[in-house]
Amino acid sequence: MIRSIIKYFLLTFLFLLLTVLTQIGGLILILSLIISEKIKVKNRVKKVGLFIGLYLACSFVIVPPLAKVFGRTALPISNKGLIIPNHIWTCLFNRHYVKLELYDLIREVSSRLYNENDYQFRIRYLDANFPFINGFPLLPHRSHDDGEKLDLAFIYVDQIQDKYWNDRVSFIGYGFCEEPLRGEQNMPKQCAQKGYWQYSLLTKSFGLASKDKVQFDKSANTLLVKQLSKHPSTKKIFIEPHLKSRLGFESDPKVRFHGCAAVRHDDHIHLEL
Ligand SMILES: [Zn+2]
Repeated sequence: MIRSIIKYFLLTFLFLLLTVLTQIGGLILILSLIISEKIKVKNRVKKVGLFIGLYLACSFVIVPPLAKVFGRTALPISNKGLIIPNHIWTCLFNRHYVKLELYDLIREVSSRLYNENDYQFRIRYLDANFPFINGFPLLPHRSHDDGEKLDLAFIYVDQIQDKYWNDRVSFIGYGFCEEPLRGEQNMPKQCAQKGYWQYSLLTKSFGLASKDKVQFDKSANTLLVKQLSKHPSTKKIFIEPHLKSRLGFESDPKVRFHGCAAVRHDDHIHLEL
């Protein structure tokens, strides 16, 4: 009896966790348990193997075309093109879906930047949206629930090799902040003073690069934000106020401050339709 109750709670917890992290993982768990029961799989390792196999098949074969039916498309998962994921985990967790209009936007901007300028860098994306259901939250983000939001990494240069830094600066893509310089508006400090403890929560949490080696590229980031802002599909771009002014977007109404209730945006660009 007690074993059954523990098993029930454990399965419920796993279902919720997988749903929150991947949207489809909880349903695949139920499906894999039903199939295990039907084909009489008793071995725990085989059950886990069945779940992983089903999850991967659904994520990479079934979900992409199905999401298209519901108006969202998967961003490229390869590390070779002009638009690359920060980490394969972003795609494994189905956090790389956007509306077609947003995909077209980012595709046009990336090819223009690559072909028409000396700035031959690639656009690294972070969290986007889940494949299905408007209003389904992509935690811990406050928005990212309708296919219209996309986070992008800033562009950095490798100070030692004097070329674009194409590796990720942090494991999850967030937390490698371009801090306010002396004399610039310090919104992280102002938000902390107002009691918004979460504002700088991710800072330095998952850093991979070293600030001595990797430098924020002012002109490349200016060009990137300019191209994003110029695109007619773009409605809002969130970056930290000190970067908005450092990059010269003080009079651009699309480039805005996101509010202290969010997290700081000097480690990434938030783009939305
Ligand atoms: Zn965002």
